[in-house]
Amino acid sequence: MNTINTIQNFQAWRKGISGSLGFVPTMGSLHDGHLSLVAEANKLCTHTVVSIYLNPTQFAPDEDLVTYPNNLQYDLEALSQFHIDAIFLPTDSEIYPRGYSTYMQETKLSTFLEGKSRPLFFQGVATVVAKFFNIIRPTHAFFGEKDAQQLLIVKKMVKDMAYPIDIISCPIIRHNNGLAMSSRNTYLSTSEQEAASIIYQSLQNGKNLIISGERNAQKIREKITQTIMQENLLRIDYVSVTDAENLVELSGNISNNILVSTAVFLGKTRLIDNFSYSLSSNK
Ligand code: AMP
Repeated sequence: MNTINTIQNFQAWRKGISGSLGFVPTMGSLHDGHLSLVAEANKLCTHTVVSIYLNPTQFAPDEDLVTYPNNLQYDLEALSQFHIDAIFLPTDSEIYPRGYSTYMQETKLSTFLEGKSRPLFFQGVATVVAKFFNIIRPTHAFFGEKDAQQLLIVKKMVKDMAYPIDIISCPIIRHNNGLAMSSRNTYLSTSEQEAASIIYQSLQNGKNLIISGERNAQKIREKITQTIMQENLLRIDYVSVTDAENLVELSGNISNNILVSTAVFLGKTRLIDNFSYSLSSNK
């Protein structure tokens, strides 16, 4: 497999590529969620590039940068079933050389939800994604709906900064018990993974409430909260019902397009999940 570690080598390789180029950024420890993005890139684009880079600037000092799971050998093997033209595997000093001082910041959407709990997270994400876009120059980039706010912020950045890139969103891939796949699930024991499946059930309960006609945002939040609280191992960070476009928390009746999302701690492990709902299309 063609692995490239430096910006210079990537740019030299890129010069020889024509046609559409799909880019899938990841932090490694790949699972079927990541691989669904790669499959989509293979389907839509002539060429596919995957990056594996654990981006330090999106981790707060008290977060899990040091313990974040990684297994490059396994990742390369998982990717070998796809058509990958290049894997970009930069080092920290390649992306953030000594004296690095330029950051990208989306200033509205990133103040809500995940941004409230993790103040520098989206600045780190936007910076590394912008830098990768400049290096890789994809025509398409693939992001998972699992990280719904991240997807929205990347779309906004692309629009605001006029990147000539189509952002393709891909549905959440789940385990059989409903738990959204995540690299961080490897922190959980089998019984904890079972306990965490109530997060998905809670969202399903919230969605069913909407389907049965409930329109009050607080009632929907309450239903989800009550369901999660049935599992003693879980501690809620937030349960949120927002307008899907501007991420403003809704108090009265829900708007036409909503994002329902939650972040939950199981021990030190922080898990997120969500669904979007459109009243006009009833799904
Ligand atoms: P990460 O390695 O966690 O930064 O994720 C890389 C990409 O994979 C992001 O666009 C994520 O939204 C996406 N992703 C992670 N988990 C899932 C999942 N369960 N289903 C779909 N996409 C996912």
